[in-house]
Amino acid sequence: MKNTDIFSITHKASRRSFLQSAGTMALGASFLPWLAESSQAENLLQDNKPLGIALVGLGYYSAHQLAPALQQTKFCKLTGIVTGTPSKATEWEKKYTIPKKNIYDYKTIDRIADNKDIDIVYIVLPNSMHAEYTIRALQAGKHVICEKPMAVSVKECQQMIDAAKKANRQLSIGYRLHYTPHHQEVMKYGREKTFGKVKIVETSDGFKIGDPNQWRLKKALAGGGAMMDIGIYALQGSRYTVGEEPVSVWAQEFKTDSVKFKEVDETILWQLKFPGGAVANSSCSYAAGLERLFATCEDGWFEMGPCYGYGAIKGRTSKGDMNLPQLNHQAAQMDDFAQCILTNKPTRTPGEEGLKDMRVIEAIYRSIETGKVVPLS
Ligand code: NAD
Repeated sequence: MKNTDIFSITHKASRRSFLQSAGTMALGASFLPWLAESSQAENLLQDNKPLGIALVGLGYYSAHQLAPALQQTKFCKLTGIVTGTPSKATEWEKKYTIPKKNIYDYKTIDRIADNKDIDIVYIVLPNSMHAEYTIRALQAGKHVICEKPMAVSVKECQQMIDAAKKANRQLSIGYRLHYTPHHQEVMKYGREKTFGKVKIVETSDGFKIGDPNQWRLKKALAGGGAMMDIGIYALQGSRYTVGEEPVSVWAQEFKTDSVKFKEVDETILWQLKFPGGAVANSSCSYAAGLERLFATCEDGWFEMGPCYGYGAIKGRTSKGDMNLPQLNHQAAQMDDFAQCILTNKPTRTPGEEGLKDMRVIEAIYRSIETGKVVPLS
């Protein structure tokens, strides 16, 4: 089977023929629980329509990744938008056949509470706006997906988690990589010690950022620079490769352009120590391309790269290539969340996961400020 897309397969074929197909055998045992849940959610869908999603903020990620992915999902669909730009409202209304009554702006968003077409609100705004709009959507009685980084402080993350509990709604963070077979496999290697105990992990994520006037370079909107935006992938990668929470961090910041990066970090290098003895050496940058996860273990090694972008993920181990299917990350992520809601199961990337990353990110900034190792107890 070439260019396997699990979602297009499940859409076209019945579950039985899907299970019998040779391709399914290649997907591996880790997909079987997913299929069981998928079937349970499918039964629930026979009576109910796919869950409705409203995207909040129609910038690059919504327009070029999430909306196209929502054309491939089975358990949820695009039913609403929230935008402050009237021309975008008109464009999206036509392009995605969105009823006028499902179009909101930042002042009217709370009225979403009365809209039965919308079950999930997806926050795709600049980072410092995540907490406010997540909490408003939860208070409107909707389930929420919030983009990464979850917020710009641990305090905000906790407020968001509390708001979800109070509203009795699910909050999921847009950690799309958790829904890909490659990253799931790496989590499994760490958990099951497939190559023995993980000893040293190296992770890095970076790209050359363009427009010097964008919100990503403004502290008030972004909360931080490369670390908040993409370093979070390298940090997560090390956490789920080892399968433990770090006990201390030491970090250094490097700047080559103090004008462009006046307000936020350009390049950060950091080291994490884990309770079982593993260590991680990681980096992120807005000035250079980086995309790698490597782990050396007692009895072998595994690595991925490219591994954080939207495209195909490549992985290898000391035993050979990782031969796993590629799928649309965002469609997998949103369909999984819709199934969690339909079957009343917790999301695998809850607010608590976002808070864990933010806790380490705050410690990284503290380490840079003080020049010291910061404990994470
Ligand atoms: P973007 O700049 O393309 O879009 C931001 C949107 O927010 C725009 O529609 C803009 O009009 C709106 N907005 C509302 N108030 C604003 C304000 N005060 N200043 C600036 N914009 C304002 O950004 P993006 O790349 O779509 O990123 C949005 C969020 O999605 C970020 O949190 C980012 O980290 C996240 N993201 C995640 C991924 C991923 O792979 N999971 C990829 C890209 C972006």
